[in-house]
Amino acid sequence: MELEQCPKVGKLITMSDIHNVIIIGSGPSGYTSALYTARANLKPLLIAGSADKKTSRVKGGQLMATSDIENFPGAIETSVDLDTFAFLEGAERDAAVKDVKGFSGPHLMTRMELQARHFGAEMLEEFVTEIDICSHPGELYTVRTESGKEFKTRSLIISTGAAAKLMGIAAEDKFFGQGGGVSTCATCDGHSYKGKTVAVVGGGDSAFEEASYLANLGIQVHLIHRRDEFRASKVMIERGKKNPNITIHPFRTIVDLIGKPHPLAATSKFFSDKEVLSKAILEDPRDGAREELELDGVFVAIGHTPNTQLFHNQLKMDESGYLERDKHMRALPSANACNHKMSGMDFVPGVFVAGDVSDHYYRQAITAAGMGCMAAIEAERYLAEKLAEKEGLDSDAIDLSLQNIGISHWTSEDSGEAPMIERVKEAATI
Ligand code: NAP
Repeated sequence: MELEQCPKVGKLITMSDIHNVIIIGSGPSGYTSALYTARANLKPLLIAGSADKKTSRVKGGQLMATSDIENFPGAIETSVDLDTFAFLEGAERDAAVKDVKGFSGPHLMTRMELQARHFGAEMLEEFVTEIDICSHPGELYTVRTESGKEFKTRSLIISTGAAAKLMGIAAEDKFFGQGGGVSTCATCDGHSYKGKTVAVVGGGDSAFEEASYLANLGIQVHLIHRRDEFRASKVMIERGKKNPNITIHPFRTIVDLIGKPHPLAATSKFFSDKEVLSKAILEDPRDGAREELELDGVFVAIGHTPNTQLFHNQLKMDESGYLERDKHMRALPSANACNHKMSGMDFVPGVFVAGDVSDHYYRQAITAAGMGCMAAIEAERYLAEKLAEKEGLDSDAIDLSLQNIGISHWTSEDSGEAPMIERVKEAATI
């Protein structure tokens, strides 16, 4: 077993205990990084979050709450024989195009997970509670999880995404989750409201998508929005307006939620003091006028907050808390990162950032996946560079070798690829 005195760690570490790359987060960017680093023989560990759908940081990320993804290229369901499509003409071709259906978010994420696992990514379904970037930047990073596990890694890919925002009214917590009436996930909780009446709060694509999903389950939906202009795309708004189960209420906010005794309160001790939602108090922000609306549920769809709490005082964030990065996907140190330990560093070596945790503008599954791919390639280059330096290869040879090992992304693990350092050495002698 190879043991190495890690100079900056100051103790003997079994090298096999150190991961090449740990990926944190299991949205499209995390799984794509896992796929690429697995195919580069880096044996990545992906720490995925909880599989419990009641949490906002559920494994699979935000797409677990998306019913139909219609804009992830190639992710469609169709009964068309794909081999014969090119030969179809006229009405037959039109019928085949019409037959295309969107793809369910959870199905897409399960496919991504399977693909990453198939190529050798290891997965852990836990939350990360602490990440130590400060102690040995550029050498070794430590990741701790909720169950007390600790992992060391040479590189990190941060794909922790963003979480749904809540309205911030006092009663929201009381009714949040466990069938209480407030949810941020229509696909997780919508089925419990069949035959009932709910509100969806927000005016963006998420609100319209959640409203359509619920309405299509036969649920009466009140879409509550604080203005009369919507951020949602025209097609989503039109779909919402046409749906007979959706009523749109512009110039309204929810200022309070009122409950009634839980249906099991009389028969179960556990539920004896629990309430379920029965009404919302709406306010017109223009004049403060209030009205009551009878409701069984409220789905909040008002945007997201990046999951960056773990990186305070370590990594640089913008004013909204999104991680900043350079064009090589490298994380940047915060102004006084680690008590100035990283001052003078333009970036944090070996720490890469991908997906919605660093993107409040595009926020698409496909852009997150693209960033995951870029971060994985950069992580591979970083590790190869470190290994090559350790082997005493000069910088020209390293550059050349890195260009050559780039082919690893297009070759299969089954083709018997050599470990990375062998590829670096071999490529450097060409
Ligand atoms: P968003 O576009 O930021 O919309 C958030 C909405 O919530 C806005 O209408 C905002 O109102 C409202 N809001 C914010 N804070 C509020 C508060 N405290 N109380 C009441 N209302 C509040 O967020 P999103 O809908 O989650 O979409 C995010 C991104 O994902 C967008 O780029 C979107 O296109 C994309 N997306 C795409 C799809 C799809 O293509 N299938 C599905 C979902 C999301 P104001 O307008 O007044 O600020």
